[in-house]
Amino acid sequence: MTQDAICIEGLRKTYKGSKGQPPKQALKGVDLTVPRGSVFGLLGPNGAGKSTLINILAGLVLKTEGKVTIWGFDQDTNPRQSRASIGVMPQELNLDPFFSPRGALEVQAGLYGVPKSERNSDEILRLIGLQDKAEAYARTLSGGMRRRLLLGKALVHNPHILVLDEPTAGVDIELRQMLWENIRKLNQQGMTIILTTHYLEEAEEMCDEIAIINHGEVVARDSTSNLLGRLDSKTMVVVPDGPATTLPQAPGIEAELRSDGAVVLRYQSAATSAEAVLAAVHSAGITIRDVKTEETDLEDVFLALTSSTG
Ligand code: ADP
Ligand code: MG
Repeated sequence: MTQDAICIEGLRKTYKGSKGQPPKQALKGVDLTVPRGSVFGLLGPNGAGKSTLINILAGLVLKTEGKVTIWGFDQDTNPRQSRASIGVMPQELNLDPFFSPRGALEVQAGLYGVPKSERNSDEILRLIGLQDKAEAYARTLSGGMRRRLLLGKALVHNPHILVLDEPTAGVDIELRQMLWENIRKLNQQGMTIILTTHYLEEAEEMCDEIAIINHGEVVARDSTSNLLGRLDSKTMVVVPDGPATTLPQAPGIEAELRSDGAVVLRYQSAATSAEAVLAAVHSAGITIRDVKTEETDLEDVFLALTSSTG
């Protein structure tokens, strides 16, 4: 357990309903571990509970129930050390408009009790590409610059764990590339990264491990390669030239008759060739009028996992 960057056990959060609204159960008993040194993706649709989870880690939202251990420090019994171990780039742009980037970094470092001699504002400004804007008012910065500054603020106390809540939602390609590069660089230097996203492509490209969260529950948790391995499955849809009376049968092929008369065949492309599937179709006495194949991708698994409990 000491190997884990984060260990979450039985985490629940219920928001009190405001003004006649019923209470909202945002997290319904989450168990999750994040290994040290990884780039970990927390994936889920809007309203799944990602920000709630992140904000509890950051100490910005109080949990209702459960145990959170950050870098080996229990959040309740060791609040100071657990807070010092983690830096969070929030989803919302909550910058004080009157601080310059350098000022904002210095204030943040002060909040974390980083002594002046150990502060590395210049290095951070360089990393986030704001050295030229070091003394500009935050309110004069573009949206992209503000986002980069939020990243900088998360780094002032040189945390073991960096958490980014939807870092690239709504940002242009250039900034996205820059953020990805920064994230990779920090990870190579040993920082554990946790990011939330609803872009599957981003999770696929960036993350070693992925947890999928939906309606406040973790519905899948695996290495990205395993998740993608699960997705090696392909689907072939055959439209027969007349009603199919027998379904194709062969090892590694799952056949199903659709209500419109099409025969749907599922198989793993690594183990079974399209040729073998077609042969099984022929052996079943089916003449093919039309055929098409579909790849299953992360999107399909994601949809399958997140639509059923709706
Ligand atoms: P995500 O980040 O995955 O989009 P959130 O954690 O922001 O999800 O929200 C999870 C659920 O909790 C949503 O239904 C949201 O409306 C609700 N929620 C979030 N914050 C609050 C709050 N401060 N008060 C009441 N409900 C909230
Ligand atoms: Mg969110």
